[in-house]
Formats: sequence, structure tokens, C-alpha cells
Amino acid sequence: MTDHGFDPAARLRDREANDLRRDLAPAERVAARSRIATDPQNEPPTFDGDELSIFAANNYLGLADHERVQAAATEAAREVGTGAGASRLVTGDTPAHRALERELAETRRTERALAFSSGYAANVGTIAALNPDVIFSDELNHASIVDGCRLAGAETVVYDHCDPADLRRKMGERNRSGSVEESWLVVTDSVFSMDGDVAPLSAICDAVEEFGAWLMVDEAHATGLYTAGGGVVQREGLSDRVHVQLGTLSKALASQGGYVAGSQPLVEHLVNAARSFVFSTGLAPPAAGAAREALRVARESDRRDRLWSNVERLREGLEATGFEVWGDTQILPVIVGDRSATMALDECLREHGVLAPGIRPPTVPEGTSRIRVAPMATHTDEEIDRCLDAFRTAGRELDLV
Ligand code: PMP
Repeated sequence: MTDHGFDPAARLRDREANDLRRDLAPAERVAARSRIATDPQNEPPTFDGDELSIFAANNYLGLADHERVQAAATEAAREVGTGAGASRLVTGDTPAHRALERELAETRRTERALAFSSGYAANVGTIAALNPDVIFSDELNHASIVDGCRLAGAETVVYDHCDPADLRRKMGERNRSGSVEESWLVVTDSVFSMDGDVAPLSAICDAVEEFGAWLMVDEAHATGLYTAGGGVVQREGLSDRVHVQLGTLSKALASQGGYVAGSQPLVEHLVNAARSFVFSTGLAPPAAGAAREALRVARESDRRDRLWSNVERLREGLEATGFEVWGDTQILPVIVGDRSATMALDECLREHGVLAPGIRPPTVPEGTSRIRVAPMATHTDEEIDRCLDAFRTAGRELDLV
């Protein structure tokens, strides 16, 4: 008889044969997500030999266990409920969502903001709802942007990574051959999650304006880090030149969910047309409450300064050890090159108490396998030094430095 079913075990074996299988991290060995190490009320963290210190989380400001952020989540759960109960358009709209959206719009300097249930949902829903004829997309954009382009069914032109000259050239070519009626969307991450570099937004704005296109910037890895509460768009003073600012609540804001910020008509259009907003339950109120409070803490506290000094200490130490480190942000990709050497380093780091996973193709190009290192504001100097010791020992054991 013919078999029309699926064999997931065979698919796993294929992955394994191609060295592409992944497994979940050993949760029970992972140390506290982010310790409030600098809070004088808290004991300094002790190191349990069997515990792993996270050096690759996106909880950059270490706010996931901040007292005020946790209290805001609890309060939203008590006052509004643990779940939204329905789509925002049905009965799921709550004061917790509105308060978060006001804070997001204020920090992004836009008229309105809209919360989605994830950054992934924000990207796919927004790009599809804009329904552009042509999308110009950076070659290293995040998978959720790529999926948004697919879902929109638009012709997608990929331009060279962080290269406004290539973008301008490709827009020029299309301008000569395309219809004058076409709508164009240019989309880029601001901080790239695997290379840790920053898009040249001001030059991209110039190119976009030359052709009268729209610009959408994904600030997932920048939100809350580059000005008090803002991202790269605010640091560069571009809030008025970027039509769609998008991001996640799940990284520096230590919560869950995504957002879009822009003009009133843009947000009203998304409320009607973004299918991932319309046909999905509203963001859980505790997540909205936590993100709003995290944004406030990010605006008020000195955690950003501590993050940047940790980044500097770690980068200097890694380079002094002999590792090649890319990027110029809080994300420090330590380039190994070979995939199996990268996975051996990943394993060896774990043996020395550090969790910083190896990243291989297809996530990154062949020959550029790496360990993606990202410190948090809450890491102490001692923890950073212990991480550097682990890299030094593992690097020497594996003959990488
Ligand atoms: N955009 C970028 C650039 C990201 O790195 C991520 C998450 N890795 C997302 C969007 C998706 O955000 P979320 O995790 O909230 O779905």
C-alpha cells in the first residue's frame, strides 16, 4: 500500500548526516537568567561548578528578573488577567496594552504603536499588510522578515548586506524597467543578530527618499539600548524618516511580544489588515505590563552604561586571547570558521561553565561558523573574567588561539 504519511525520524537522521541537527540547551544547568548583581539588597552571585553562565542571551539589560519588571507582570495578571482572552479587536483589548503602546510610541517618537504577540508575528503581519509590489531586503535580514516577504507575495530584490550603494543601484534598475504605479518597501534590521553590525540607516534613508519608497527598520536587537528607551533610529535622529519602526519586547525588554510604531494611519491600517494581529489572541497582559515597566527602567537606570562597559571588557579580552571578533554592538560574534571546530568550542565552553552556542550554516554562510557571545548588563567583572578564562582554556585545548 502507498504511504502518504511523514517520517520525522528520517528527517532528523538527514539533518544529523548533514551536521544540522539541533537540540535544546540543558535548562537545568543554566544559571539564573540575569542576576541583579549590582542591587545592594542582593548577595553577589556564587558560582556552582555545575552551573552554566549564559553569555548569549538577548536579555541584554538583565531585566528579566528585575523586581519592578516582575511586579508589573504580576500586577497586570492580577488586574487584567493572565491571558487577553481573545483578539484585541474582539474582547482582548486592555489598559495594559494601551499603556505599553503609549510608552512605545513616546520612546520611538511616533504618533502610535501597536503590540503584537511576537516580533515574528509583527514582521510577517506588517509586511503582508503593507502589500507592496516590490520589496528591497538586506541579504542578512532576519528570518521573520524573509517570511514576511514570502507571505506578501511581492517581488523581492535582495541587496548586498549594509550596502546603500547596491540598494540605490537596484532601485535605479527597477525604476527603469518597472511600472510607475508600483509601491516599494525597503526593509532592514538595524542591528544584525548574527554579525553584530549596524545598518547605515542615514544613507539608506537618503536612497529611499530619492525613489519615494517606504522604509521599515527592525530594531529587535536595538530597542531600549541605543538611547534612553530608544534604538538606533533614535540615536541617529531618524524617527521622522523611517515609516515603520518595528521591534520585539523579548530582548532588552525582557518580556514577550512585538511592536510596530509609526503614524496613526499606519497603525489603524495594521489593526484592520495585519492578519497576525487580527486573527491572533492579544499579547498576554503580564507580558505587556512587564515590557512597559522594562522600558521605563531602561530609560531611567544606568544599565545601558554597564552593558557597554561589559561589552568592552569582553571584546578586549577575547581579542587579546587571539580570537577574531566581528561587529560593533553588544553582539560579539567570535569567528571560528570551520563548523566542527565551532561545535567543539561550544562543547568545551560548556564543560568550563559557559553557555554560548555555536552558530553554523545555514544560519550563517559556510566558512564563518561562530560562537555568538552577548554579555548582559548584570554580569559582574568576575563573571566576565570567568567567561574569558573559559574561552582561553578552550581555545588552547582546541588549538584555536
Ligand atoms: N527580528 C529580529 C531581527 C530578531 O532577531 C527576532 C528574534 N530573534 C525577531 C525579529 C523575532 O522576534 P520574537 O522573538 O519576538 O518573535
